[in-house]
Amino acid sequence: MTRPSKVAFIGIDAADKDLILLWAKSGLLPTFQSLLNTAAWTPTTSPVGFYVGSIWPSFATGLSPTQHGCYCYSQLRPGTYRTERYSVFDFKSELFWDTISRAGRRVAIIDVPRIPPSENLNGIQIVDWGTHDPDLPDRLYTWPTSLASEIEAKYGRDPIGYCNRITRNVEGFTQFRNNLIERTQKKAQLSSQFLQQEKWDLFMTVFAESHCVGHQCWHLNDPTHPKYDSAIAQAVGNPIQDIYIAIDKAIGDLLQQIDSDTTVFVLASHGMGPHYDGTFLLDEILCRLEKVKTPAVQRQVAKALNSSWEKKPIIRHFMQPLRKYIWQPMRDRLWKSDKPIRHALQEPDTSNRKCFTLPNNDVYGGIRLNLVGREPNGKIHPGAEYEAYCQQLTQDLMDIINVKTGQPIVKRVLKTQDHYQGEYLDHFPDLLVEWNREAPIAQVSSPKIGTLEKVFPGVRTGDHKPDGLLFAYGPGIAPGQLEAPISILDFAPTIAALLEVTLPKVDGKVIPAFKTPEPIA
Ligand SMILES: [Zn+2]
Ligand SMILES: [Zn+2]
Repeated sequence: MTRPSKVAFIGIDAADKDLILLWAKSGLLPTFQSLLNTAAWTPTTSPVGFYVGSIWPSFATGLSPTQHGCYCYSQLRPGTYRTERYSVFDFKSELFWDTISRAGRRVAIIDVPRIPPSENLNGIQIVDWGTHDPDLPDRLYTWPTSLASEIEAKYGRDPIGYCNRITRNVEGFTQFRNNLIERTQKKAQLSSQFLQQEKWDLFMTVFAESHCVGHQCWHLNDPTHPKYDSAIAQAVGNPIQDIYIAIDKAIGDLLQQIDSDTTVFVLASHGMGPHYDGTFLLDEILCRLEKVKTPAVQRQVAKALNSSWEKKPIIRHFMQPLRKYIWQPMRDRLWKSDKPIRHALQEPDTSNRKCFTLPNNDVYGGIRLNLVGREPNGKIHPGAEYEAYCQQLTQDLMDIINVKTGQPIVKRVLKTQDHYQGEYLDHFPDLLVEWNREAPIAQVSSPKIGTLEKVFPGVRTGDHKPDGLLFAYGPGIAPGQLEAPISILDFAPTIAALLEVTLPKVDGKVIPAFKTPEPIA
């Protein structure tokens, strides 16, 4: 019998495929330039409509989102109209490294995003030391648990945290870029320490700085973006390019430390582009189509709660302890939703509507139908009425144009059940609105909704594209572009197969190009 292969996986969270290829070919990213010549490579695909929130959970399980249940930071509590924060501790599906570890293989898992910490791992794990939007920011979870203090003493804590909070001027963007470069270098040192520590069967580490910089600095990479500011761009340069160069160097250093008998994967998980979508307008559009309005009294209360009086420093000073120790615990006990009351009050009563939006990150709008027998106060009957409603709503959404370009704002509306099946299907949005993201959406119009104008309220200027990019090399893998893209769901079964472990339940399949070579007789 031959020894199972060893596997090393380096992830680059939301690093854009097109930018990597462009900058690799122009010589800015020598590691990727070299991988293009020496490795097998291919674009990767991700779960349609839900890829933003489900990509890493699907990677880690080989399961589609409706089989593992995670698709967004906030999800519907089934049987209610309320949404709740989805924590990694709500995630119950088995991660593939748990199975591999139980089979006796030694594993090191560093900063794979959006997954819960594992216990009793045959090896080590570090969770969210330096990831984008860490799910567990309050303490560092590691296995063994004693590892946390060692990591903190040696590498400190993440210098960035939630990147939406950065200051958006020359000093702020410069500091952000420098902090990201520092985090990249520290992640490389931390990864190198564990890579050198022993000959792991499976070693995995993920760089997340590409994710943070893409969301916050896309406009500095794109002079056509409405928020492009030439003075800031001139002073700061292009932070996205700076971070990709730093990650390219970090990966180059790590790859040199990996033994030649190891199968190596370098994966840019999904992409990044301008943040042009209409999700922030969708609920208002649905209200106009259904002709429902927020009662006037409710609107006045919401307006009072949204006023800026509490933002005054002196008021804030006194309000903060009240908010933290009295208001929030009371609110959590009675309200049981992660939607702020002040926002909920701006909307008409969901239970009396035919459909409503659910959070689904931003790139696809998520719509839930108020279905008889499923929702507590259902309005639409399953069967013919459901079908007719979906058809009409799709048409109404497709009829809306972007006033600035004259083009439809919606490319297509997907029915979730046409693309997915599984035990959590009933907890997901029923319809997915795929936006025409070729131009910013701010003023929209159709005969049924009239004209609606609103400024995107978020701070991010970049948002995700679905495709990723994979490089792979090692024993028996031929260099060059593969014939077809591969799915993010295929990594779990493929890595397990290379380590001669079979996963009990997966939707993905073993990628034939990366099968362990047959031993020579
Ligand atoms: Zn993101
Ligand atoms: Zn971030």
